[in-house]
Amino acid sequence: MDTVLHNITLIDGTGSLPVQNAVLVIRDGKIDYAGPASGWAEGGKEWIRLDLRGCFILPGLIDAHVHLSGSGEADSQFRTDDGSMALKILSNAQKNLAAGITTVRDLGGWNELEFEVRNWILQGEFAGPRMCLAGRFISITEAGADYYQGMYRVADGVDEVRKAVREQVKNNADLIKVGVTGAVLVENGVPGTTHFNEDELRTLVQEAGKFGRPVAAHAHGAEGILLALQAGVRTIEHGTFLHHSPEAISYMVDHGIFLLPTLKVGWDIILAKDPKIPEWITEKNKATQRDAELSLRMAYEAGVPIAMGSDVGTPLNYHGENTLELYWMQQAGLSAMDAIVAGTGNAARALGWDSWLGTLEKDKVADLIVLDANPINDLRTIADKKRLQFVMKDGQVVACHVNHDLPAKVFAKKYLSIE
Ligand SMILES: [Zn+2]
Repeated sequence: MDTVLHNITLIDGTGSLPVQNAVLVIRDGKIDYAGPASGWAEGGKEWIRLDLRGCFILPGLIDAHVHLSGSGEADSQFRTDDGSMALKILSNAQKNLAAGITTVRDLGGWNELEFEVRNWILQGEFAGPRMCLAGRFISITEAGADYYQGMYRVADGVDEVRKAVREQVKNNADLIKVGVTGAVLVENGVPGTTHFNEDELRTLVQEAGKFGRPVAAHAHGAEGILLALQAGVRTIEHGTFLHHSPEAISYMVDHGIFLLPTLKVGWDIILAKDPKIPEWITEKNKATQRDAELSLRMAYEAGVPIAMGSDVGTPLNYHGENTLELYWMQQAGLSAMDAIVAGTGNAARALGWDSWLGTLEKDKVADLIVLDANPINDLRTIADKKRLQFVMKDGQVVACHVNHDLPAKVFAKKYLSIE
């Protein structure tokens, strides 16, 4: 039976103006109609009707940069056994779904356990978000591999890089993640320093491309960003010093390469003033946050496509609060609507999944959230569990409050409570 959501304000994730008094029709998990009530012919059919007067409906959010293996520990140098880690990854995945993040792209997992968790979710044993997985973070020999044991795959030289890509493909990775420059969250990491050489990067992107896998590049320094772009990556993660390179910015505009600025990482650390966070982490973030904001502003104004990546899992950056990244992007210069597009339509494009996901348009999968307040007035509404009424994935309710009044027929077999 089809489900009809009516009396809604529709924000479809394309950047179009909100449509008041709209209707959204779900058939077989997909959107059959989304638009003004006046454009929909009801016919004589039977419907499951949800009257959502006063509510706003958005696509399910897509966080294109998460780490399911981290829970926001003050220091990411944790040690844990595989059994506990698998449960932690599942728990974090569910926190995303219950917060309306119906799709996550994990850019550095842990001992391949995220693939197992995804299998259990796909088999219907657990509720969970769609998961686009990179497997391991491919890096040169450097200190990060000791800090994030379980996440890194060290590879030096073209042959080793090729092998590292093949390993991720073998494990069912949807894309490849590469550390092109040093990192902020590695004690001795210098974010501006280029790590991989040109031949290694080109080999990596070429090998990934052979298997139809796009590449996400962790890149802070301008030189590394440009190298990654010229090698053919699809997304630039962080892009902290992008503002140093007008050439890189125009390359991204011309080739439609996405920037995921991950501003929330720095703000969570800087604003928390938590003594449990190692001092070097706080100091390094303080030193780079303005660069990250400036780079986003310049890229946005130049027309670089922007997608949401919260990097949740980093210190005090908790799963379920991901969408506050939209607010930080707005503070750095994006319009509220463009920030919403960054977390929906654009994020789907960054994943390469936009032909079937990311916007509320006919024939796309019915992943959506319902809010009882207007997110355009305050983007933090999207991360407010009290405002989030329910979450649908494939046209079925997968998360709602305990005291809901939704009919039983609209629920998925496994669903979560919004806490
Ligand atoms: Zn990350």
